[in-house]
Amino acid sequence: MSRAGSAEKQARILVVDDTATLRQMACDALESAGFAVQAAEDGERALALFEAQPPDLVLLDVQMPGLDGFGVCERIRRAPVGSHVPVLIVTSLDDVESVRRAYEAGATDFITKPLNWELVVHRIRYALRTGRLVAELERSRERLAKAQHSAKLGNWELHLATRALSCSTTCRQILGVEGSEEFIPIGKLIACVHPDDREPLLRAIGRAAQEGTPIRLDHRIVRPDQEQRHVHTQADVVYGEAGEAVELCGTIQDVTDWRRAEKEVEFLAYHDSLTRLGNRRLFRERVGTMLDQAQTREDPKQVGVLFVDLDHFKRINDTLGHEKGDWLLQRVADRLRACVRGSDQVFRSVEEESSAVSRFGGDEFVISLCAVRNAGEAGNVATRILEVLSRPFEIADQELVVGASIGIAVSPEHGEDVDTLLRNADAAMYRAKQQGRNAFLFYDSSMNQLARKSLQLESGLRRAIGGGELVLHYQPKIELASGRITGFEALVRWQHPELGMVPPNEFIHVAEQAGLIGQLGEYVLRRACQQARTWRELGFSPLRVAVNLSAHQFQTEELAGKVGDILSETPLSARCLDLEITESTMMENKEVATRVLRALKGIGITVSLDDFGTGYSSLSYLKGFPIDTVKIDRAFVRDLVKDPDDAAITAAIISMAQTLNLHVVAEGVETQEQLEYLRRRGCQEVQGFFFSRPLPADEATELLRRNFQALEAGQPPW
Ligand code: C2E
Ligand code: CA
Ligand code: CA
Repeated sequence: MSRAGSAEKQARILVVDDTATLRQMACDALESAGFAVQAAEDGERALALFEAQPPDLVLLDVQMPGLDGFGVCERIRRAPVGSHVPVLIVTSLDDVESVRRAYEAGATDFITKPLNWELVVHRIRYALRTGRLVAELERSRERLAKAQHSAKLGNWELHLATRALSCSTTCRQILGVEGSEEFIPIGKLIACVHPDDREPLLRAIGRAAQEGTPIRLDHRIVRPDQEQRHVHTQADVVYGEAGEAVELCGTIQDVTDWRRAEKEVEFLAYHDSLTRLGNRRLFRERVGTMLDQAQTREDPKQVGVLFVDLDHFKRINDTLGHEKGDWLLQRVADRLRACVRGSDQVFRSVEEESSAVSRFGGDEFVISLCAVRNAGEAGNVATRILEVLSRPFEIADQELVVGASIGIAVSPEHGEDVDTLLRNADAAMYRAKQQGRNAFLFYDSSMNQLARKSLQLESGLRRAIGGGELVLHYQPKIELASGRITGFEALVRWQHPELGMVPPNEFIHVAEQAGLIGQLGEYVLRRACQQARTWRELGFSPLRVAVNLSAHQFQTEELAGKVGDILSETPLSARCLDLEITESTMMENKEVATRVLRALKGIGITVSLDDFGTGYSSLSYLKGFPIDTVKIDRAFVRDLVKDPDDAAITAAIISMAQTLNLHVVAEGVETQEQLEYLRRRGCQEVQGFFFSRPLPADEATELLRRNFQALEAGQPPW
């Protein structure tokens, strides 16, 4: 006899017989055929063995005392793993009744006594093979069901003549129908479909039945709990032998989550994920359409573009962290959205759905206004935006005030296509920011000239720094009590080959933006130190030279090291150098600023706070920074005599500085009256055209000489 499945796993057989000799014969025959055999002498023992280790096949005698073969078979079938294990029942030759009962009990096959063991072995092999196939089929059915479940894919068949609809479990789950009967009435299916989608589905079924057109349909269903889901239904016609349509065989798939993901992807292509506002792409498409429509309308309307840039956002982001920065941007987005959607007078004229807020990234928001009647209307919107953004934002017991600068371009005067409008609104915004923030400006063509000039300056600047086109002028600082020149402020000028003398206000910010400020600053510092050294060698001492630093220079901790290097290479004593920085420079990055200041003080350099009074001017923050001198901004000095407020502020700054033991310099002194006022209030030093404009180095030296001589001779120096 051949070995049973030597290549495959050895099949295990459970033999159940109450007669010991028959049991033994069975064991011998099967073992020698290559099976692994276990034997049980009664029903209970058989079930225990079965449960402990389910065999691949059971050979079961019918007649046994106690639990007989039928009972054992029934219980095996009820066991979780017993439904597919082949059970061969052994009956007597003429016992037809037993065969019938065996079938009812779930037996796979029957064998009659007396047993021909050679044949029995073959019967067993057949049964094992069939059993394996059934088990495999069952497994793959389970896998399919699982896959369908996780794919949310159900299948169904609709018998066309009887309209009987049979649904898989997943199909029922998708539809949300209760009960487990195989067939559900077609009406029940249709009732699950969203009322608006029933008609197309019925039409598709009709066409499939009559013309054989496959069904491919996306529609919605409404579940019993009223939840709405999106499904894809697909079906093909099954034909009978005579070529008649018999059945629709189809699937239904819940695609709600896909749809959602798809929508999100679509949404994000046109929107900003942080604020859910439209992005640049959406803006361009929308405004493009608006412009086309604006031209074809009977009463031509204008399209307005507002470029909104938050003031000081970077500082907030740096000090409070990105999380709060993000939060702030979202709140700003909310306010802007509400603003554009608002129904007040300003907006009634503006067509709603086409007026939209977009975010271009960072703190840049752009608003498109469709169909404004004139530029003034766009201006009203800007006023309104400035107003809503000027209200503080409350975050974790803190009040944040942002403010914004807005540039406006309106078609067709300021541009007839999206790009031009955008560029011009941006240029106008930039100017608004330069002119002191929290304001809006309309575009005008001079801005373009300015932008062009910036470009021209930028390209020239690289050459200028290395090529000796930058020169320093020096403006004296005078001690009020004695009239003595205590030092000079170095002010850079650019001797441009074509443009002539370019003032620093026109090129410093260009240098900052072009990343050239580091080089420029170093150049100025070195030249100023050399000049101070020269004066010292000429015998004028002690003299102090003051150098202006821009915010960008102050953001790096290397500054102190660099200044130290320049001093020692000159060489110049640190006491002869004063550095001027503005309040906003210091506020831009407080931590770094404080560290840099400490390092500078460590070397022995003094620091002046420039343009004081225009920024934060808070006493408490002054105390925290290691500075020596406060320079009262020339704007206050200018109107001292006319404007009592400015006079009061100036007086307050002077007395505040005295309390804090700070030195006070007033800049921009042009008249005798201003000088007298400052003197009365106790200001120690002054600077301004009243004494001298900034002068080239040799003229400054000449001035210094005269001042020296006058003082020596006891004459009034000014
Ligand atoms: P600032 O530091 O406030 O410099 C004083 C400015 O006021 C100078 O303008 C000076 O010419 C002007 N000024 C002086 N006295 C009077 C006066 O009595 N009346 C009036 N109306 N103006 C007066 P300037 O030289 O055009 O410099 C402008 C700004 O450019 C400076 O303002 C400073 O912020 C910046 N700057 C100048 N040189 C440098 C530099 O080397 N580096 C950096 N980072 N910035 C510089
Ligand atoms: Ca200055
Ligand atoms: Ca100043």
